[in-house]
Amino acid sequence: MVKIKFYGAARQVTGSMHLIEKNDFKLLLDCGMQQGKRKESFERNRNFPFSPSEVNSIILSHAHIDHSGNIPTIIAKGYKGPVFCTHATKDLCDLMLPDSAYVQMKDLEYVNKKRAKQGKNLFEPLYTIEQAQESLKKFESKNIGEYFNINKEEILAYFLNAGHILGSAMVILKIIDNGREIKIGFTGDLGRKQLPIIIDPDNMYNIDYLICESTYGGRDHKPIETALDKISFIINDTYSKGGKIIIPVFTVERAQEILYILNKLFINRKIPAMLVFVDSPLAKSITEVFMKHSECFDPEMLELMANNKNPFYLELLKFTESVQESKAINDYDKPCVILSATGMCEAGRILHHLKNNIEDSRNTILIVGYQAKETLGRRLVDGEKEVKIFGELYKVNASVFVINEFSGHAGSKDLVAFIKKAKKDGRLKKIFLVHGEPEQQQILIERLNKENINNVIAPETGYEEEL
Ligand SMILES: [Zn+2]
Ligand SMILES: [Zn+2]
Repeated sequence: MVKIKFYGAARQVTGSMHLIEKNDFKLLLDCGMQQGKRKESFERNRNFPFSPSEVNSIILSHAHIDHSGNIPTIIAKGYKGPVFCTHATKDLCDLMLPDSAYVQMKDLEYVNKKRAKQGKNLFEPLYTIEQAQESLKKFESKNIGEYFNINKEEILAYFLNAGHILGSAMVILKIIDNGREIKIGFTGDLGRKQLPIIIDPDNMYNIDYLICESTYGGRDHKPIETALDKISFIINDTYSKGGKIIIPVFTVERAQEILYILNKLFINRKIPAMLVFVDSPLAKSITEVFMKHSECFDPEMLELMANNKNPFYLELLKFTESVQESKAINDYDKPCVILSATGMCEAGRILHHLKNNIEDSRNTILIVGYQAKETLGRRLVDGEKEVKIFGELYKVNASVFVINEFSGHAGSKDLVAFIKKAKKDGRLKKIFLVHGEPEQQQILIERLNKENINNVIAPETGYEEEL
């Protein structure tokens, strides 16, 4: 008997976690951290809806924390099996899981200080840096497109390219149950064609069931090309005023994409020669991981590399590591570009750069990623005229520009096209939508229905079905 159970990213976008059972064998697809409201997420991430020691195997789609971030927790709670993923995902997790532990520690330092004053009990992180490092020993990396055995040659799996971030994969599961073959496809996070650097997403064929993400089920993105024109305009304009361009970035993918695009604009003489600082030690290490994984690159990136035009190691590019180097950027008085983390301006070195530059009207703050509510990044996007940084008020005299073209997720049209292709051979029986807000999922269901694709549901947490 084969069953599927939905435990995370059900009618929401974080905490990806789905369980496949064949008789007593339990296989987890992703073990992501739920993010969002602190208290609710705390409960969820700590308390698994099954016994961690009873799970036999985990397959991880990609390194983002909402898919990988609870792996150290499940291991600390007794999970003993392997974690299968692609080679690049393993190398990214080597950096990102310990970083996740560090971020939790820092976050709790602040929260616990407040709680201690109020006489409340103190929170503990989900796991320590040591536990995160320990969990990495369970990772077993596999090639894209090659079947590997999960259990007794009755459960097998292989990865396909998801085109979402470096190393991101979709999963095909083949289960033999009493002589019957069941094939399940899982998209993880489905990317888009023409994202810089990484290879485009593959298609899926010959599957019985599809677990499909639906983040942008009801919305579409503008093509990346339009972003190039906007960025070159913004940079030229700021340069002519003698200002600096500050770009808050996520350290995985977005930072490298921006470097790639700046490089392209330099090469094509669309922007003047100026220094580009990448002021984030994590972004530097992650960029090094990128360089190790040319198997994930698209043809354009491979061609650049073949011609010795590596976009990550230009003369005009400076990675800064020490705090002194970071501070020295402030003394640099010519126009320049500064990339720094975190991407939503909640913490990290970006705060120092904003503090030092936000009141100068020659400067530009360029927002290139999603900004959640209640973050400093969101306040800037919302056009607030004064913002608090390190507890002090600063006037927003710098220009703020927002570029939304870079989403790493398939848009609504891409999802419909992907599902239509998967359906073409007539085998696909049912589609489970996950990793999306209910409104987005509803629009996608209606759009699929119009295409005569009817057996689509958006399961709630705890929903289970026999396949
Ligand atoms: Zn993702
Ligand atoms: Zn995700």
